[in-house]
Order: sequence, then C-alpha cells, then structure tokens
Amino acid sequence: MRNKLVLKFPQSLLDKPIISTVVKRFDLDFNILHAQTKPEGLLILEISGTDENYNAAIKYLENLKVNMQPLSKDIIRDENKCTNCSACIPHCPTQSLFIEDRKTMKVGFDPEKCIACEACIPVCPYKAMSLKL
Ligand code: SF4
Ligand code: SF4
Repeated sequence: MRNKLVLKFPQSLLDKPIISTVVKRFDLDFNILHAQTKPEGLLILEISGTDENYNAAIKYLENLKVNMQPLSKDIIRDENKCTNCSACIPHCPTQSLFIEDRKTMKVGFDPEKCIACEACIPVCPYKAMSLKL
C-alpha cells in the first residue's frame, strides 16, 4: 500500500510526536511532501507499508481525531473568471498561487504544487477556483 494523504491536526495535537509514533508502531515508510503549523496543522505525506499496517495506522490517526483525506482531488482555475486580484495568494500554503509577473501582477497557478486543501475556493471573490468533479 502506498498513498498520499493530507492530514489536518487540531491545535491540541501539534506538539505531539504523532507521526514518529505511527511510523515506529506500524512499521511504515513515509515521505513528507509538505508541512505547516499555521494557520492550522497540515501535513502532506506519502505513506507506504503493508495493507494491514497502513490500515491500522489510519485507524489510530482517526481515533486521535486527525482529519485525513487522500491527495487525489484536482483543483482547477477558470482563467476567464480570474481577475488576478491576488486575494487567494496569502491563503495558499504551498505557493501554488503566486505573483507570476511583478510588472503586470499576473497571478500564476502551479497545479503540480497544489495539495487540494481548498483554502483558495471560498476566498476567491470571482469563484475562479473550484474542485474538479
Ligand atoms: S487548493 Fe488552492 S490554496 Fe490549496 S494548495 Fe491548491 S491552490 Fe493552494
Ligand atoms: S482570488 Fe480568484 S480572481 Fe483573485 S487571483 Fe486568486 S483565483 Fe484569481
């Protein structure tokens, strides 16, 4: 089993060694793709191990109330709707949304860096960002 997961941690768990405990206890390999503590605890991990250990680790994290979702969703931007207002940039934890051109202040979008956290969707005043269904 190999999977990419988005984990969101409640503040009460931020200082706990949860991932190292999971990795040791369930004999998993992991690769941190992205980590942040503000404005919320967010970790993007690639985890691999046996099916049994992987599923046991997921159950353990669920019991701790860690919010998890697979990193499989696609976020798209409607170029016709985007006005390059830049309102979304401070909300994007991975700099997928960024100033592409300082002269024109064009806002770039790099889908390769996007972790589908959806933070940009509600803050876009022009509804340019959406989840691909
Ligand atoms: S969903 Fe939006 S805010 Fe989240 S990483 Fe992707 S572009 Fe950035
Ligand atoms: S908030 Fe919406 S309109 Fe503004 S730059 Fe971002 S995607 Fe474009």
